[in-house]
Amino acid sequence: MKVEELRRRIPRLEAYRILKRLTMHNRIQATRGIVEAAEDLEATLLETLPDNAEVELISYSAKGVPGWMPTPRGWHLEEARVRIGGRELTSRSHPTLAAPHTPPTDGWSRGEARLVRDPLDPEEYRDAEGKVLVVKSHYRVAYRLAEEAGASGVLFYREDLPPAAVPYIGLFLPEGEDHWLPAVSIPRSMAEGIEGSTVEVYIDADTGVEPRFPVIVAWIGDRRGEGPLLSAHYCHPEPGANDNASGVAAAIAAFRALAELDPGFTLRLALFPEYTGSAAVFGNWLAGVTSSMVNLDMVGGRQEPGLGPVRVYLPPTGMGEGLARASLEASYLAGVEVALYSGGSDHDVMLGHGVPAVMVNQWPDPYYHSDWDDAYRIDPDRLRESAVLGAAIALATGVGARPSAPDPRPWMIVSRHLSRGDEASAGLARELFLGGGGSSWRPVDDSRVVRGLVPFLADYVLPGMGGEDAARLARLIDGEWNAYARELFFHARGGITVGALHSKLAAVYGVERIRGDVLVRVLEEYERLGLVEVS
Ligand SMILES: [Zn+2]
Repeated sequence: MKVEELRRRIPRLEAYRILKRLTMHNRIQATRGIVEAAEDLEATLLETLPDNAEVELISYSAKGVPGWMPTPRGWHLEEARVRIGGRELTSRSHPTLAAPHTPPTDGWSRGEARLVRDPLDPEEYRDAEGKVLVVKSHYRVAYRLAEEAGASGVLFYREDLPPAAVPYIGLFLPEGEDHWLPAVSIPRSMAEGIEGSTVEVYIDADTGVEPRFPVIVAWIGDRRGEGPLLSAHYCHPEPGANDNASGVAAAIAAFRALAELDPGFTLRLALFPEYTGSAAVFGNWLAGVTSSMVNLDMVGGRQEPGLGPVRVYLPPTGMGEGLARASLEASYLAGVEVALYSGGSDHDVMLGHGVPAVMVNQWPDPYYHSDWDDAYRIDPDRLRESAVLGAAIALATGVGARPSAPDPRPWMIVSRHLSRGDEASAGLARELFLGGGGSSWRPVDDSRVVRGLVPFLADYVLPGMGGEDAARLARLIDGEWNAYARELFFHARGGITVGALHSKLAAVYGVERIRGDVLVRVLEEYERLGLVEVS
């Protein structure tokens, strides 16, 4: 199948129309808005897909989501307001103003603003009682520390956003934990010079709503047959255009084109709330019938300075050779780059189940997780190209497909090390992935076996965790968060010695970066938290 033919089958504005419709919904997890969005998506699919495709909406309760996944309690926002020095912001003009899942206030809550410079340092929260703490990173850790310190409120902002954009910071406070600290997000322009100002916060929210995690699955072919999966998360506050109405729209357009083509194998499409919905449906049954997954997350942003190109992030080395080869082939034909594994979306969940998965993604995105992530910043042509790419990869991994491209990962890893002048890591990678020999590097001398007890780690703030514990874990793995702190779970799935795990990670990320003593400390911390078993 030529990419050119797939392009002909995907009308130029099809995905863009779907995207615009979805961006009208405020799709915050565990709210009524996400249920309405799911119903509207189901309607979109029924209107769009050909007759050979079936559609099902599965609505999971919180009990349907596995316990290792931070799962928010139900939440419904009536209104939020913030007043600082004569300026007032409202949730009507900024849908991301109230940090999702924040407790309500009792009338107006007031306090003096105090900037927290290092949110992971518990000392910064001393004498914070009655103050409104202003935090620029590690929000979920800071939330717990601020609450434990008796602060009267917490304000989040982000230094990397345009000055007037209000960030989206979801708290994901689980059911069963008792929280009372109100949290809101403010633009950077209001955080500057805020120290000592009086801050007033008003939040009218209902935290007693029964949360639902609706998943939409569509398929062609055998209902129980194994086959590739196209997927995207549809959650996030309005507008959430690039993240991730774009992935949803491109996945639907790709699936529709392939359904019409009827390639003779089972093919599915799944749309879900990020991590919670995918964890529910993959663990329940979908991972068991999926041969490979193409996850689209942020794929339609208009190319401008600051926005990264679309890339296909391959599975971690040692998993999914066929998918890696098919992805290289399709990416080459579609004119996009491939990149080594990076975490942060629902492909992590599928990889945690041992099924190969790639992520198609644009990174960085200057408007990511803010109220400026709107349809204006989407390029309809870029969006269609991403649909073409998703369809091409899914087609190249279907039954009977024989990709002619090689597995690019060993070469990418070796050349990455060599471009940094890192001969030792290049030698190790050659030995491990290309059958070379003679590397003098040795892993940590530790023959204990590490086995993952959860598919992967979604966040370093786990249900029931106190602020200091969360801060310690964050300090330990923060810089490696998207890389080995997640990838090690995939390798530990069936059990692996600590030494072998050290070699695998060091070969990919570099022998200087993956220090044996730090890895052992990370594993011991994970063991203490019940995430892995080391014996
Ligand atoms: Zn996303």
